[in-house]
Formats: sequence, structure tokens, C-alpha cells
Amino acid sequence: MTAQILDGKAIAAEIREELKERVNTRVKKGLRKPGLAVVLVGENPASQVYVNSKCKQSVEVGIESFSHKLPDTTSQDVLITLIDELNADERVDGILVQLPLPDHIEDEAVLERIAPAKDVDGFHPYNMGRLAINMPTLRPCTPRGVMTMLEKTGIPLRGKNAVVIGASKIVGMPMALELTNVRATVTICHSATQDLEAKVREADIVVAGVGIPNFVPGDWIKDGAIVIDVGINRLDDGSLCGDVDFATAKEKASWITPVPGGVGPMTIATLLNNAVDIAEQKDA
Ligand code: NAD
Repeated sequence: MTAQILDGKAIAAEIREELKERVNTRVKKGLRKPGLAVVLVGENPASQVYVNSKCKQSVEVGIESFSHKLPDTTSQDVLITLIDELNADERVDGILVQLPLPDHIEDEAVLERIAPAKDVDGFHPYNMGRLAINMPTLRPCTPRGVMTMLEKTGIPLRGKNAVVIGASKIVGMPMALELTNVRATVTICHSATQDLEAKVREADIVVAGVGIPNFVPGDWIKDGAIVIDVGINRLDDGSLCGDVDFATAKEKASWITPVPGGVGPMTIATLLNNAVDIAEQKDA
């Protein structure tokens, strides 16, 4: 079997077109454009690329982008004060703080300061908790984007065995909750998991979010499984690859995401979708 490709780039482009329409409809009704504040602290090169992409794509769909680039030396108090200002700013629907933050700043303190209704990344414990009890409000972007891709396969997910490799708060844990909410049977694997291979071999759906190049060999993949590769790893030659060995896995899977061009573009499109959702709900 050679897998069909889940083309995240193309699906993300469709989502952006829909968002453009939704924003246009608002503006024609005399409502303001949705506003997205993006906060970057420090000079992490990968973060700068992500933030620039998020701001550029926001503007392309008609979202007003408020960019706040702060130096590496910014104190936690100053950052918290900025969050308070953005929480109070009527023009701002969504607030995103790009991670990782410098070591002297406590991520949780900052993320929990964002008003849950403006938490466009869905990382606030309130929004995570709602997802955990299957009463979702704002859903973390990468897992929500993966669910959109899984829907595109047309394969019912109910009752399927899903293995999520990685248990981080931004990828693995909310991914496991999303899959549980559609009634898949989910095994969450992490660095202490024993015999990962046996678990992957049983999986109808594999989602890998580990951060190790080609960590999952293709021969572990069950025939006909859906493989979602969240990993983005830069190799010494400058090229990108995922956590799954794509060349061998695509010979076993029914559907597979490429890296690049898979989950990555979906994450940003879903972020914009969350921002437009917030603005629409506010005015509903
Ligand atoms: P993280 O470091 O926070 O989490 C990695 C997880 O992998 C941890 O739960 C850890 O226990 C697990 N892990 C590590 N070694 C393992 C092993 N040997 N066996 C099983 N599990 C193991 O990373 P993260 O922020 O969740 O990101 C994971 C990957 O996803 C990275 O490559 C990151 O760049 C990528 N990512 C991509 C997107 C996207 O939009 N495509 C978004 C976020 C993260």
C-alpha cells in the first residue's frame, strides 16, 4: 500500500479562504476586524520565523495583527503588565505568547494571566480543563488542526486504536483529549513508555510529537494506519524532517502527513480560525 498524502498546506489554504470570507462578512456588516496580539520575548530564530508567519497570515485573512517584540531581558512583571493591557484592550480578541519564553520567566504564570476568553492558543488551564471534560471552548491549535486533517480522510475515528507519542501540554496531551472526545481508544506514550514498538504496531492512528528525527521506523506502522507527524526537526544539512520515517511509513499507511507541508501549516491556520471564532462569539 502507498499512502495518500494529507496535504496540510492545501487544507490550510482552504481554511484561510473561508476565514477571509468570514472576516469580509463581518466588515460588510460594519463590525470591526478580529484582532490578534502576538507577543515575542527574545531573539530565538525559530520563534521569530513562526511569529512573522503568524502575523503575515493574519493580515492576509483580514485579521488586525498587533505585534509586541520585547527584548530577552524583559522581566516577568513587565510581560504580565503587557498581558493585562491586552486583556483590557477591546480591539484584541486573541492573545498569543510565543513559547519558549526566556528561562527567567515562568511560562505558566504568563499563560494563566491571559484572559481565558482571549486564549487563542488554548493553553490556559480553563480551556484545557474544558477540553478534558469534552465541553471544549478554545482548543489548542496543533491538535485541533490535526483533527481537521483526520476529518478530511473521511475515516470514522470512533472505536479506533490511537497511539499518541509525546505527552506535552501543547501537542500530546490535548491531542489525546481530542481523540478521546471522538471516542477513539487512546494510548499516550512518553519518554518512560516501555515497548513503544508493540503499542505503535497495534495503532490504527499514530500521532507523533516527540522532536526526534525519524524516531518511528516505517515498519512499526500497521498496514492501513493513519500517520500524523507533528514533529519538525532541522537536520545538519538545513532540511526539515518529521518524527516518522516518511519514506518507509508511507508504504504501510493509508494516509500520512508530510514534513514540511503537513501539520505545520494547519497549526497557523487553526490559530487564525480560533481568533475569528472569538471575535464572532463576542459579537453574536
Ligand atoms: P516536548 O519536548 O515538550 O515534548 C516531547 C514529548 O516527547 C515528551 O512528552 C516526551 O516524554 C516525549 N518523548 C521524548 N523521548 C521519547 C521517547 N524516546 N519515546 C517516547 N516519547 C518520548 O515537545 P513538543 O513541544 O510537544 O514538540 C514535539 C515536536 O513537535 C517537536 O518536533 C516540535 O518542533 C513539534 N511541534 C510541531 C508543531 C506543528 O505545528 N507542526 C507544533 C508544536 C510542536
